[in-house]
Parts: sequence; structure tokens; C-alpha cells
Amino acid sequence: MFADVIVDINHSEVDKIFEYSFSGEECKLGSRVVVPFGNSVINGIVIGVKEFSNFDPNKIRPILRVLDEIPVLNVETLALMEHVKKTCYCTGASALRLFLPSEMRKGKVREQFVNYCSLIKKISSEELEINFKRAIKQKQFLEYISDGEKYKLSEMNNKFGASAVKAVLEKGYIQITVEKNFRSPYNSLDAVSKTVNLTEAQKNAIDSVNSTDKTISLLYGVTGSGKTEVYLSLISQTVNLGKTAVMLVPEIALTPQMLKQLRARFGTNAAIIHSGLSVGERFDEWWRIKTGEAKIVVGVRSAIFAPLENIGLIIIDEEHDASYSSESNPRYNTLDVAKFRADFYGAKIIIGSATPSIDSFLNAQNGNYNLITLPERINKKPLPEVEIVDMRKEVKRGNSSQFSRALLSDLEQCLKNGNQAIIFLNQRGFSKSVICTECGHVQKCESCDVSLTYHKEDESLLCHYCGAKYKMISACTECGSKFIRYGGIGTERVVFELKKEFPNAKILRMDRDTTATKEGHFRILNEFSERKADILVGTQMIAKGHDFPSVTLVGILDADQSLHFSDYRSAERTFQLLTQVAGRSGRADKPGKVVLQTYSPENIVLKQAINYDYKSFYENEISIRSATGFPPFSDIVRILFTGEDQDLTLMAVKSCYNEILEIYNNNKEKFRFFGCMKAPLKRLQNKFRFQILMRIEKGDKKLLDSLYFTQAKYNKKDVFCYFELNPTNLT
Ligand code: ADP
Ligand code: ZN
Ligand code: ZN
Repeated sequence: MFADVIVDINHSEVDKIFEYSFSGEECKLGSRVVVPFGNSVINGIVIGVKEFSNFDPNKIRPILRVLDEIPVLNVETLALMEHVKKTCYCTGASALRLFLPSEMRKGKVREQFVNYCSLIKKISSEELEINFKRAIKQKQFLEYISDGEKYKLSEMNNKFGASAVKAVLEKGYIQITVEKNFRSPYNSLDAVSKTVNLTEAQKNAIDSVNSTDKTISLLYGVTGSGKTEVYLSLISQTVNLGKTAVMLVPEIALTPQMLKQLRARFGTNAAIIHSGLSVGERFDEWWRIKTGEAKIVVGVRSAIFAPLENIGLIIIDEEHDASYSSESNPRYNTLDVAKFRADFYGAKIIIGSATPSIDSFLNAQNGNYNLITLPERINKKPLPEVEIVDMRKEVKRGNSSQFSRALLSDLEQCLKNGNQAIIFLNQRGFSKSVICTECGHVQKCESCDVSLTYHKEDESLLCHYCGAKYKMISACTECGSKFIRYGGIGTERVVFELKKEFPNAKILRMDRDTTATKEGHFRILNEFSERKADILVGTQMIAKGHDFPSVTLVGILDADQSLHFSDYRSAERTFQLLTQVAGRSGRADKPGKVVLQTYSPENIVLKQAINYDYKSFYENEISIRSATGFPPFSDIVRILFTGEDQDLTLMAVKSCYNEILEIYNNNKEKFRFFGCMKAPLKRLQNKFRFQILMRIEKGDKKLLDSLYFTQAKYNKKDVFCYFELNPTNLT
């Protein structure tokens, strides 16, 4: 027999199918195998099995080993791999990597087995006294396990000494058994099930999903409208039908609380996968899903590739979130993958949000998606009142601090009442930049064209783009002046200032710096929800999804920040972020409030956000997009060139541009924009960056293909070139 194999090397030159031979039955479609390759051996995946080969059978080398009893991929996932390969323009190997935890692919992780010991038969106390008179430890050990239970051998060795345990074993009193150990994440989650009676609106939402013939339903429900409960009920239905379900959230920080709710309802039927788990946990969870032991998977974007079969439901919560588009190769879009899987199994997809993406809402308006609306919070609780504070006026009145007087007095009141507050600022570190007051020099990263952020905790200057770390300066590196000014505040500074204002308050900070450790998110969120702190300061990590009943005040320190990006989505992102953050306030019985600080209070998007006026926002935004021909009315293609040698890079861009110019000239009617320029971020990690930017007719696969293949040959050793379709980040 012969097998078509894709080898695990992500390189376009070996991006083809290799044939190997095997005998016997063990090599099945989707199996991981070890094969000879050139002068070495390598892992691969069997994507086809056949009786006859196209080549001379004598020249075909045999498969060396099959790695798993159960093939890791199946017909569906292999087809999905092909789909990803085609739509994301990546190699088969890199598409395959999406399906397997990386440590597993490299064979670095195995199942874990644990040795247990237990009594073979009961011993009477006389026998113990006589036979173990002088062996105190052995006697204690036997007494300890006399209840007949199984005990971990390693623990018994620690407790009574390995020699005592060994002696008892040799005397024939105990037996050793080996069992598979499941490394299960978040064991400390206490899953308490609470029963709720669904509201009419929630019931209608569920009925609507069940009765629609459309694959995708958009659940548009304001924050706190009980979307989660709708998801849980739908999952329950799905599992009762013997099918499986995927539940995606936008951030790892949100997975534990979702797992908690799923475990409460479905016990060990719920599994979790994300990159924050330990290698062993990920491996075990993956196999629990693969073998069908777990039927529900919660995770972030990558969990859409979970090894589920017979999928009945895919839920994408906070569907507007940018994290659902991958920003590294393969640049897949989660909804697109979900659609493929749903089509294969006849599953339903629910995408949910309080602020649907412009694209999704347009699809709902056009009738492509089934639109379900939850217009009110549970129990008709009002959405929190928002007070806009004009920070220009604060400055004029002599308040140069980060906090408006309104926010400070509300904070004071909130703490006095024993409630909790959230302060949001989308900038980590102490100050965004450090500037010399003498010569105006801004400290920059040596390898990037960006200013450095000051982190007070370890007195460092950090590049938030490449991660480079420098020592904080004591004098300007240009002119030697000692007068250094901090420009722009970060979360570290906010905590610093708040401690001065409220010395008795307990303050937690949540941003990338404080959550770097394993289960770091979980720890901070847990502490806050157990009310061990009064104020939570954080970046967009705290904006999404969290349900803290005691939070009655949310302060938004710099609401304009994301408005000024030169990205066509900046209004959309600002609206979404503000609505999400505001939605953390007043979720239980106490009314909530939001204080929003801004330097442009007249801005229309801010006004729409504080009035929770999604409809006006949408109408306004969609008419702008339509008039200007931006997505969702076009596709954006960016071809990004990077290289350490500026001239070489520029040369490559220019000749690629000239080639594409020809395509452009022959298809002018399909282009809304076509240009070549420096990328907004001109230098990153010592590489210069240029881009060819296009807006083209939406969904024209033929045009996309020709653009892709034109640029592909420019990807070389010294100059890299990346093909990006509708990138989430245009820096
Ligand atoms: P969303 O995801 O829409 O922001 P959640 O699902 O978190 O909203 O629900 C908000 C709060 O309302 C939660 O504390 C949840 O437990 C509660 N809740 C949801 N549905 C009901 C219901 N039918 N009856 C009572 N409380 C509910
Ligand atoms: Zn200076
Ligand atoms: Zn840098």
C-alpha cells in the first residue's frame, strides 16, 4: 500500500505530497507518521491512502513508524486543511499545524501515567504486630493504606520512605497499578450550578436559532442582556442530541469563567484549550476531545480547530473582536473556518455581540444572517448612566492630574458605599514616552521607529513593538540634560496616583505585564470578584465580558485614544471598546455609572457610544464606508515588504509594484485604490517596512490569486514580503 504524506516542514519548496509505502493495516488516513526524508527522518501526516503508486514502487521508501493508534485527523479536518491552504495562501504543513498542539507535533509530550499502590488483602492487627515489630515505617505505611484505597506510589514513598514501601511490596502485601493521569487545568474552579428561568426574550432567541434555516445567527444583545445563558441552553440542546459544541471567547482571560459555567452544567464534558495551559494539560485535553470524552470545547480563536466530530453548534462570543482574525501565518479568519466546519456537519453558528461588527450587521440586514435582538438588560435593569467630562476644561481650571474631579468624587462615593470600581486605560507601563524638556528628544527603540515606554516597576524603557528592554535613563541621551518629562500615562502610573488619592483602597492592576505568569489572568480576576480589592485598573483586557456584580463605577481615562488612529476602523473600534467597558458597570441590583474623560467631547462617535445608540452609529458608519469604498464594500490587500537593507527592500517593492501595475491597468474597474508607500511603522526590529496597498472588489478570488502569485516570488532571504488580506492591523 502507499500513502500520500505531507511532511512537517513549512517551506514552499517542499510544499507537496510525498509518497511512501507501508504494509499492514496500521497506517490510516490522518495518521501521524515518521518518514525518511533526504538524509534525515521527519514527522508527517497521511493525507491519502492508495493501492497503486504513480512512481516506480522500488524507489518509494517505506514509512518508518505510525505515531498514534487513533489517526489525529479525519476526512473533515483534512478537507479543512486544504481549504485553509487555499484561502490563506499557506503551505500544507503550516495549515496542518493549526490542528495539533505544537509540543505534540514535535513529540515532546506524552501521556502521563501514575503508579498507585494498594493492599492485596487485609492484614489483621496481630499479624502487623508480629511481622513488623521492628519495621516501624513499614507498619505505619500498612496501617495508613489499610482502608483498601489506592494511593499514589510517589506520595507514599515521600511519606514513609521508598525503602519501606519497597520492602512491603517485596513481602507481597501490596500491588502496584499503573493508570493514565489526566492533567486537568483550572482545578481550583468551584463550579456551582445556578438555575435560572429564561426570560421571554431569551426563549425567543433560542426558538429563533432552532427555527431558522440560516447557518449563522447574529445575537445582537446589549451588555448584560443574558447572552451567555442563551449560549448555555443551546449547548445543552446540542449535547442532548449527541452532538458536540465549540464556545469561543476573544481572550484567554475569559476562558476560566466560561469553563466554570460549563463545568457546572456539563461536568467533565467540558474541555478547555488555549496556549496558556501547560504542555501536559493541553495534550490531555486535546485527547479528551479527540476521543469524544469531552463534547464541549471552550477556548479562544485557535480552539476552532479542536478535534471535535459531529459538531452541532459553534458559538463566537464578542464576534466583533479583532482577535478572531489571525495576524500571523496562516492568517485565517475564525468565522470562515467555522463556516467550513458547520457546512460539513450541518451545524449552526451563533455570533454574539453588544456591538456587532459593521460587516456582520450588514450581513444581517441583507438577510445572509438570522438577526436576533436582545434589546434590554436582564430584569430591565437600565444601562449605566454615562457622564462625559471635558478634560480641556479640567486643565483650564487648574486640574492637571489624570483624574477629573467628577471621577474622583464618584470614586470616593463608590468606595464609601462598599462597592467596586474599574478604571480603564488602554496603555500599559508608567508613561507612554520619556521626553527631554531641553532639546525635545524622545527616547526611541534602537531597532524600531517607535518611542519607548517607561516601566517604573523595574526602572526600564520597553519597546512595545519588539519587546526590547533598556535601562531607564537619568539624563537625555542626546544633550545630557537631566530634565526629563513623562509623556502620556499608563496603567502603572494610574495605580501610583490612585494610591495617593485613596491610601486605604486595595488596587489591582491587570495588563500584559501583570498577567504574564500561568493562570495570571485568572488569579487577578478571581481576587477582584472575591472582593479582595476595591479598584481594578487595566487595559482592554478588563473591557470584555466580565461579570462583576459589585462594580458600580467605571472610569474611562482617555476615551479618544483609539479615535486618532489612521485606520478606517478607528470609529468602529472606539464605539465597541467604550460600550464594552461601560457595560461592566451596574450589572447586578445596584445601578451603575460611567465617567468618560475626553479631550473631544463633541465627537459624534463618543456621543453615540454614551447613548448606547448602536443603530445611529451603524447607519452613519455604513454610509461612510459605502461612499468611500472601504470594507465591507471592498477587500483590502496589503503587500508588506521588510528588509534590513533599505535599498534592496525598496528595489523589491518597486519591481513588484510595476508588475502589479500591469494587473491594475487591465482591471482598473476592480480597483478602488492602488498605491505604494512607506508603512506607517517605518522600521521594526531593524527592518525597513514598505507596502503596496490596494482596495479591490470584494471576494474576487481570481484577482486575489493573481496578486498573490505575483508577489510570492519576491519573498526572499534578504527581503521578506507578506501578503495580507483584510489585515486587522495596518501599522
Ligand atoms: P451578556 O453576556 O449579555 O453581557 P450575561 O449572560 O453575562 O450577559 O448576563 C448578565 C447577568 O444576568 C448575569 O449575572 C447572569 O447570571 C444574569 N442572568 C442571565 N439570564 C438570566 C435570567 N434568565 N434570570 C436571571 N438572571 C439572569
Ligand atoms: Zn535632550
Ligand atoms: Zn523595538
